[in-house]
Amino acid sequence: MFKVVLQIIKFSTLLTLLFSFCFKPFFTKKNIPNSEETEIPALIWESKKQPNAFNAPPAIFYTPHQDDETLAMGSSIAESVRKRHPVYVVLLTNGDNPSTNAILNGTTKCEFHNTNHNFNLSSKDFINARNAEFLAACKALGVHKVFISNNGKGFDETIGLENLNLKFFETISFFSSQYTLASHHSISGNCDPYNKKGDRMNAHRACANALQHLHNLDSTKNIYLYKDYVYYFPKEERTASFIKKNKKRDTKKKHKAFEEYNLFDPTKGRYAIGYQHSVWELFNNSYSSEYEYIDLLPLECN
Ligand SMILES: [Zn+2]
Repeated sequence: MFKVVLQIIKFSTLLTLLFSFCFKPFFTKKNIPNSEETEIPALIWESKKQPNAFNAPPAIFYTPHQDDETLAMGSSIAESVRKRHPVYVVLLTNGDNPSTNAILNGTTKCEFHNTNHNFNLSSKDFINARNAEFLAACKALGVHKVFISNNGKGFDETIGLENLNLKFFETISFFSSQYTLASHHSISGNCDPYNKKGDRMNAHRACANALQHLHNLDSTKNIYLYKDYVYYFPKEERTASFIKKNKKRDTKKKHKAFEEYNLFDPTKGRYAIGYQHSVWELFNNSYSSEYEYIDLLPLECN
C-alpha cells in the first residue's frame, strides 16, 4: 500500500513539473510585460498645433531634472521653435530631492524667505510640484510635446550611474529610432563640474554617456551637449566646444520660462522649488547670461 501511495505522489509531482515547464513561459509573457514596455516615455502634454515633422526634423531636448532644460538649453529650445522644428522636451528623472523638500516642510530653515515653511509635501507632492513648474516653463518656451520617462514617473536617480546610463540610453533610443533625422540635445554632464573640486552629478553624467553611446552606434546623429553648472563660474572661466550668443527674442522666451520657475504661490501648488529653495545662484547667473555653452562629440572628458 505504502509503495502505491509513493508511486502516485511521484507521478503527480512529475505531472506538475511537466505542466509548469510547458506552460510557464506563456503565463510569464502574458502576465508580466517586459520592463522595456513599461518604462517607455509617456507623452504628458502636446500643443494644439503640431508642426510637420517632414518639413524640418524634430529637435529633442532631454533634461535630467525639471529646470535643466531652461537653465542650460532655454534659448536654444526657443530658437528651435522659432526655426519651425517640432520641439520635444523629455524629462529623464523624477526630480525627487529630500533635502530641498526638507526646506519646504520646515525641518530645514528657508534662507530665501527667512522662515520655516510648513507645506507638508510628501515625496509624491514634491515631484508633482516640480513637474508643474517644468510643464509651465516648457509651454513658455513654446515647445510642441512634453514627455516624462519611465511611463510618466521619471527615473529615480538613487539607482546609480550605471543604471542611469542604461535607462537614459533606452529612453533616448525610443526617440532616435522613431525620428532618425532628429537632433538630440542634453547636458554635457561629464565636462560640467558643479564646483572647483571637479565634482559632477550622476544624472547629468548619464545624459552625456547615453548620447555618447548613441554617437558610437551611429556617428551621423546630430548631438549637442549643453553646460549647466558652468553658470556657477565667472564668465571668463566658462569654456565649451562653441559658445553661442543668444538672440534677444529667444532670451525673452527663456526669461518667461524663468518666471515660471520663480513663481511662489503655494495656494496653486507652486513653490519656486529650484529658483528660491535650491540653486538660486545658478538661476540668477543663467538668467543674466547672453550665452549658451555647447559641447560637441567626441569629448575628452566623456
Ligand atoms: Zn522658502
